[in-house]
Amino acid sequence: MARREGGTSSAEVHDRKEEAEQRRVEATLGAEESRDLAELRRVEAALQRLDSGTYGDCADCGEPISLQRLLSQPAAECCVACQARREHRAGAAQG
Ligand SMILES: [Zn+2]
Repeated sequence: MARREGGTSSAEVHDRKEEAEQRRVEATLGAEESRDLAELRRVEAALQRLDSGTYGDCADCGEPISLQRLLSQPAAECCVACQARREHRAGAAQG
């Protein structure tokens, strides 16, 4: 039985380099796909709220989200004030 480690040809090394490059490209594309997926999940959640009749209500305080905000961000979960609070909290958590 022939052992693989014995003689690595230069062609094989070249293939591995290309393979590594290919993986890097795939990893980059994967990151973009997961960003799109997160956006898609937000939209799906908004559609579910639309189904249950809670669409347009702030998820945090329950007050109606302004129409202007919904028009610019249809998948918004909460009103401007609560969004600002959330972002403030997130920023504080990051340090
Ligand atoms: Zn709110």
